[in-house]
Amino acid sequence: MGTYAPLLAGLLALLAGLAIGKAWERYKLRDGRWFDRRKARETPHYMLGLNFLVSNRPDLAIEELTKAATVDSDALEIDLILGNLYREKGQVGRAIQVHQGLLQRPRLKRLEHAYALLCLGLDYKSGGFVDRAVEAFNEVLRLDSENEYALINLEKLHEEQHQWQAAYDIRRRIARVGAAGAEARHNETLAFLENELGLEALKQKDDKAAAARFTQAIELDAATLPAYLHLGDVQVHQGRAADAAATWEHGVAVAPDRAYLAFERLEAVYTRLGTPERFPGLCRQLIAATPQDWRGRVALARHLTSRGKSAEALDLLFEALVHNPHGLAIHQAIWRTLRQLALDPALVDRYVDLAGHAVFYLDPHVCMHCRYRSTELLWHCPHCHEWNSFVEDRLAAAKDADDE
Ligand SMILES: [Zn+2]
Repeated sequence: MGTYAPLLAGLLALLAGLAIGKAWERYKLRDGRWFDRRKARETPHYMLGLNFLVSNRPDLAIEELTKAATVDSDALEIDLILGNLYREKGQVGRAIQVHQGLLQRPRLKRLEHAYALLCLGLDYKSGGFVDRAVEAFNEVLRLDSENEYALINLEKLHEEQHQWQAAYDIRRRIARVGAAGAEARHNETLAFLENELGLEALKQKDDKAAAARFTQAIELDAATLPAYLHLGDVQVHQGRAADAAATWEHGVAVAPDRAYLAFERLEAVYTRLGTPERFPGLCRQLIAATPQDWRGRVALARHLTSRGKSAEALDLLFEALVHNPHGLAIHQAIWRTLRQLALDPALVDRYVDLAGHAVFYLDPHVCMHCRYRSTELLWHCPHCHEWNSFVEDRLAAAKDADDE
């Protein structure tokens, strides 16, 4: 072990040097001005502080940077970093104090002013002072109208308060100023916001406006499944059952892995249209296209059971159980069906055998962005406010189990 120590130390020094060099260069590019570099080099505190920052030791970084700031009290960025460190440590009051202090300085350049305000806005946001955070980010935009970081924070604050129209307008601005090539991502967000605006119109019983919003959402991003679901609901409400069926079928085609969200609606509307056989047809089509689709099997089994075809239904449920052993709904459906088949001992044995091999997972939906977990599929993460970021965590859960 001892022989590795010098090598390791050398590597760490190299890494730290690279990181510091990068930060140094970036600052130079951002503003074209640096405080007296000779002065900074005379004190080790600044470098030490950055070193501790890089190695993720915030207390020591604060200590060294505080010393560096007393040597060179003009160095704006040291106080910016210090304030941010306080915020990250949860000392929001101190962070606000430091950043407000920066704003009192005379002869601040426009960009310096904007950057200090941005940090202050982040302090307010993390302290839960929503109104003041909104005010600070808007102030940043008055100084620097294309500040993407301020725009994104402002958008999330509006979303937190369900101010969908305001969030929508800001996302449009982000799309204008943001890096090229992100258009699909912007459209996805805009489509989900349109869908929320449509739901708002529904609450006000304005079917026409709601339908226009849902249609617009689909035009922005054809994969926005909730917009299809809600548009179909409006069409049913307007007495247009055939249109609703077509809308939901379209939604199922663009998002087959989430088709189950439309099952109940489709089954009901097919019955209403006098063509109930279309439902099992759709289920079989989905199962053929995605062999691990357990929800399609459960839906088809339920449909068959209600028509007296219990044996066929049970086979489907057993297949579903293999793909999703923790699905309580599957176990319940199996027991109901077994009961209808007079608890045939051979079938009960087969069930016990299948369930015995099951691996159980909890909270199967996970946000890809922040790892927030949920028992159901959510379109908008309540934790990080990303749109459409949830996936079923079956693969990830299996991986975690391997790692242990
Ligand atoms: Zn999240």
